[in-house]
Amino acid sequence: MRVSKKIAILGGTFDPIHNGHLAAADTVASTFQVDEVHFVPAFSPPHKQSRGITSPFHRFSMVALATLPFDRFRTSTIEVDALEKRYTVETLEAMNRENPGAELLFIIGTDMYQEIEAWKNFRRLFDLAHLVIVNRPGFPFREDVAPFQVIKEPQVVTLPEKTAVFYLPFVELPISSTEIRDDRRRGAEVRQWLPPLVWSYIERNKLYS
Ligand code: ATP
Ligand code: MG
Repeated sequence: MRVSKKIAILGGTFDPIHNGHLAAADTVASTFQVDEVHFVPAFSPPHKQSRGITSPFHRFSMVALATLPFDRFRTSTIEVDALEKRYTVETLEAMNRENPGAELLFIIGTDMYQEIEAWKNFRRLFDLAHLVIVNRPGFPFREDVAPFQVIKEPQVVTLPEKTAVFYLPFVELPISSTEIRDDRRRGAEVRQWLPPLVWSYIERNKLYS
C-alpha cells in the first residue's frame, strides 16, 4: 500500500478569493482524500497583465484569512516570494523538489483548461501532477487536449500510479472574482460570495470600491 502524501494545488489570482474557490478545493480534497490543499496566489499572473490587479500582499492576506478555518488548507508563498511572475510548470517543479515522494494534484477550472495550450511548457504539466479539472458553469470541458476520466458524482477516487487527468462535472458554483469586483463597484451586495473574514478585510481596506 502506498503511503505517500497527497497535495492538491490551487493556483490563482484570488482577486479576491471567494466561496467558489473554497468549495471546489474542498470537493477535490474529499474526492481524492488529499492530505493538504495548497492555495498559491500568483505574484503577477502572466495572462492578466492588462487590468490593474490588487497588490499581491492584499491578495495573499485574503487567501490566508480564507483558508485558516480549514485544517487541510495551506497558503503558499511560493509565487509571491519570487517577486516576479512564475509559470505553473515552474511552481509544480519546485513543489515536487520540496515534497519528495508526494503525489501532486493540480486543480484547474474548465475556463482555464480551455486555453491550457497557451501555458508555458503545458505538456510537462501532465507529467508533474495529476490534473483535476473542475467544472465552471458556462465553460465547456475540452475533450481534445489529453485522455481523461470523468468522475460523475461525489465519491472517493483512488489515484493511479502514473499521473492522470480527471474531470469533475458535478462542481456547479457560479461565482467569479470578476463579478464580485464589478458588483462591488456598482454598490451591489457581495458578501454572500465571500468568507466572512475576507469580506471584513475588503471593507476595512476599501478594496474594489
Ligand atoms: P477572475 O474572474 O478574476 O479571473 P476567478 O473567479 O476566475 O477570478 P481565479 O483566481 O482566476 O478566480 O481562479 C483560480 C482558479 O480557480 C482557476 O483555475 C479557476 O478556473 C478556478 N475557479 C475560480 N472560480 C471557480 C468556481 N466558481 N468554480 C470552479 N473553479 C473555479
Ligand atoms: Mg479566472
